[in-house]
Order: sequence, then structure tokens, then C-alpha cells
Amino acid sequence: MRRSEVRERLRELELAGLLRSRQCVEGPQGPRLQVDGRTFLAFCSNDYLGLANHPAPARAARDAIERFGIGAGASAHISGHTRVHEELEERLARFVGLPRALHFSTGYMANLGVLPSLIGPGDAVFSDRLNHASLIDAARLSRAEVLVYPHCDVEALELRLRQSDHRAKLVATDAVFSMDGDLAPLPKLLELCERYDAWLVVDDAHGFGVLGHNGTGSLAHWGLRSPRIVYIGTLGKAAGVFGAFAAADAEVIEWIVQRARTYMFTTATPPPLAAALLAALDVIESETWRRTHLAALIERAGTRVSQLKCLGSPSASAIQPLIVGDNTLALTLMERLRQHGIWVPAIRPPTVPAGTARLRISLSAGHTQEDVERLFQTLETLYPKPVESTFPRQSGAGNEVEGPR
Ligand SMILES: *Cc1c(COP(=O)(O)O)cnc(C)c1O
Repeated sequence: MRRSEVRERLRELELAGLLRSRQCVEGPQGPRLQVDGRTFLAFCSNDYLGLANHPAPARAARDAIERFGIGAGASAHISGHTRVHEELEERLARFVGLPRALHFSTGYMANLGVLPSLIGPGDAVFSDRLNHASLIDAARLSRAEVLVYPHCDVEALELRLRQSDHRAKLVATDAVFSMDGDLAPLPKLLELCERYDAWLVVDDAHGFGVLGHNGTGSLAHWGLRSPRIVYIGTLGKAAGVFGAFAAADAEVIEWIVQRARTYMFTTATPPPLAAALLAALDVIESETWRRTHLAALIERAGTRVSQLKCLGSPSASAIQPLIVGDNTLALTLMERLRQHGIWVPAIRPPTVPAGTARLRISLSAGHTQEDVERLFQTLETLYPKPVESTFPRQSGAGNEVEGPR
């Protein structure tokens, strides 16, 4: 794009209903958010266990500032790897039941670091069509050949694996898909990886803390272990803080420590964040009511979603998509809910494939059953009939925009 095109390109986004604008939230995260002096009942965040504003991690961070200050000062390989980072990595490995863990600044950076460490030119990445943008970008960055398979389609994946004569192969998948909330068939994917000698990189951004015994994640949920698995957990979602980690066999992690450029060439995360994460893991393990309560909310929301006329089906995770198709319709629904004091984000391409714009309802242990009930009672008054008749489904230019998936 040339400088002279910027204004016109922004205008195109706007006309296609694809312009994004941010809301400025006052105060802490939680089921109620303050924006422009109004309070909204919010179903926006990935703070699935309600830990983003929990006092224990906040206190741990304050205490750690006393001991470590705020900044790490250097990359981990130089002098930024502190005692508290070391403790966090040991704790994360134990938590997910894998031999060793490596702490990354973010999930995005973990994926960008891990994939190019393991594969390169001459190799192949097999990537689910609905994988998170960070896995897609990581696959591209690796310079391996990228082979996209239809969403959760194990047979299509097997065909591609069988036909591949690449040197090394890597299957990359979200464990819980971030915009649909459905679970990848991990046992079958692992079986294929074993049969065709491939790595399995599992991005558990939305399963860590939520699924499996004590919230230990998707591998525990499915009862999987394998030396081929590289597990990626993120710590800004259910863990309520910030950051991410990769976990695997010790020698695999050692290789990633030596090779991941997003680990080597970036400042280590502030030590108080690592301290907050240790406290957050304590809370996940001790306040088990959070997961039980979340599970009850998921069940209720799933039932209510299935009663609404929409594409897609309810999910077993905290993410319940209400797929409406059209970008403008999704935005209109979001706006109408806002008029009722409820905030559910409209998700449009390129975050989701063209023609599958949706409201992404995400639940948190901070919500009450009454909160969920209020959301669905309001949705029932808005959808499908009143909104669809006022705003007929269009197949406008917005739906044809090819996003950077
Ligand atoms: C959020 C998310 C990431 C990125 O994690 P951050 O720590 O927020 O950078 C990676 N993968 C998936 C599936 C995600 O949903």
C-alpha cells in the first residue's frame, strides 16, 4: 500500500462494516465493565475464572515489586531470568504434567518462537483452517510449506500427511477454537502424528485453567501424553494475568530455549508478573468452585444458544458463538445489546471466515446465573425476527473480503 491509499482503504473497511474501534474501559476487568460512565454486563473477556481482578495475584505482584522491582532489565539469556521466573516454569511444568516448561511473554510470541524452532524449509506444517492467527503467522514464519486442512477434518489431514514427502512434519491446532469454542479431536490428531512421524503443537489458550482435572488443560481433558506433543498454554486468559509458556519433554524445551527468536531477542517479562502467575495457579488449584460454577454457566448458555436460530451449535467451552453470518447484522445486534446495557463483541472477518460474523459470548466464573439469564432474555427479544426483518441479510462486499487467515 502506498501512503496515498491509506484514507481510501480505511473508508473501504468502514463501508464493509469491518472497521474496528476500541472502547476505553475504566477500572478493573470483571463481569461488569465501565465505559463512558455507563456500566455494562460484559461477556467479552477471556478471563474465564474471574482472576484478572482477584486480590491474590495482585497482592503477589505488589510484594514482588518490593523484592524484584518492576523490570527484568534484559533478555532471559542475558540476565533477565530471575528466581521467580524459574519457579514459575517449574510450577507450570508440574501443573500440566510435562517434564519442562519455558515461559514466553505472550501466546503470540510463544507460537512464533516454537514453530520456526522445530521446522523450516523443506518441512511441512499442517494447520487447521480455523487456527488462531498466531499459529498461522508462526507457520508462515517457519518457511515450511503450509498445508491447511478443513476444520477438525481428520480424514483430510490424514490424506495430506500420507501424500507428504516432506522431511519433517508438524500438525498445529488450537485445542479449543478461539472463535467457535469447539474442541479439536486431539486423540485422533495424535494418532496421526504417531503414524506419520509428525510433531503435534497444541495451542491451549482457551483450555488451560478451564478443561481437565483442576483446570490443567486439554491434554488432561483427553488423557494424552506423548514425546511428540509441544503444549502451548497462555496465561492472560483463564490465569487472568499475562504471558504464556511452552511445555514438552526436557530436551525439546532445551532446543526451543536455544532457538526461539521471540524468546531470545526480547526483554524477559517483569518479575512481578511471574509472581502474580504463581499466585494465580494457587487460586486455580484451591478455588475449585470457579470451574464448577463456570461449568454450570456453560451448560445453561449452551441450552439457550441452541434455542436461538443461528448457525453453528453450542460448545462445551466458555466460548459460545452466536453465528449470524452478516457483518452488519452482527454489529447491529451488538449495538442493540449495548442499548440494553449488555456488551457482547461482534467478531468479523478476518478474525473469522467471511460470511460467519458472530457474537462471541464468553462466560466467566465471575458471572451469575442471573447474568446469563438476562443476556439470553434480551437476545430473545432482539433475535432472530426483529433484527432480521429490519436488517435483511446482505451479501455485501464485506463478506467477500479475504482476510489474512
Ligand atoms: C489469545 C490466543 C493466543 C495469543 O495469546 P496471547 O498471550 O494473548 O498473545 C494464541 N492462541 C490462541 C488460540 C489464542 O486464543
